[in-house]
Amino acid sequence: MLLDLLLPSLCPLCRADEGPLLCAACRAQLPPLEDPCPWCAAPRGASACVGCSGAGLPHLDRVVAALAYIGPTEGLVAAAKAVGSPAAVRAAAELMPALPPDLAAGATVVPVPAAPGRHPGPHLASACARALARRQRLPLALRLLRQVRPAAPQHQLGREERRRNVEGLFGCRAPAPARVVLVDDLCTSGATASAAAAVLRAAGARQVALAVLARTPLQGRRG
Ligand SMILES: [Zn+2]
Ligand SMILES: [Zn+2]
Repeated sequence: MLLDLLLPSLCPLCRADEGPLLCAACRAQLPPLEDPCPWCAAPRGASACVGCSGAGLPHLDRVVAALAYIGPTEGLVAAAKAVGSPAAVRAAAELMPALPPDLAAGATVVPVPAAPGRHPGPHLASACARALARRQRLPLALRLLRQVRPAAPQHQLGREERRRNVEGLFGCRAPAPARVVLVDDLCTSGATASAAAAVLRAAGARQVALAVLARTPLQGRRG
């Protein structure tokens, strides 16, 4: 943290001296989502969406994502999450996708919360929510959701195990606004966001969309 203040502003990935965010060369290498499904943001390929078969994800009206979670995006997210570099967290959060006007209108931004007992460094999903709310001039409810118990890391689990792992994982501290944009850093199966969206709906939300920095391309495309 202190080092961050003392060093000149450098690209957090390659240390190019272009300012505190990603340099133009690193940014150009980040893979955009190609032909994302309008409901779950998974890359669709030749035929039906392998993420949701066109039905969307449970409890989520829409998903928007900025990047495909492959190659250089994985490096950026690892720098922000595993290494916990505040500069990488800041740079990654600035890459959040723009919300379509119909999702942004009247919405409150709510991050998927950090696990209880997590280390005190910057939390990527919360930083993404902050950046999105600031850019789109939307209210931010940083602490509306809370994680009520620890859970195993989702990336080690299969699809059904992921769903069970996050069942009853979240609680809502107050009544939810009618329109919510839930924010997380990544969406893979969507199980975590669906569990959070279910809690928001039970607390009064009528529209819940998900905005993420990056969407994992799913394996085993049909067709
Ligand atoms: Zn760079
Ligand atoms: Zn889909």
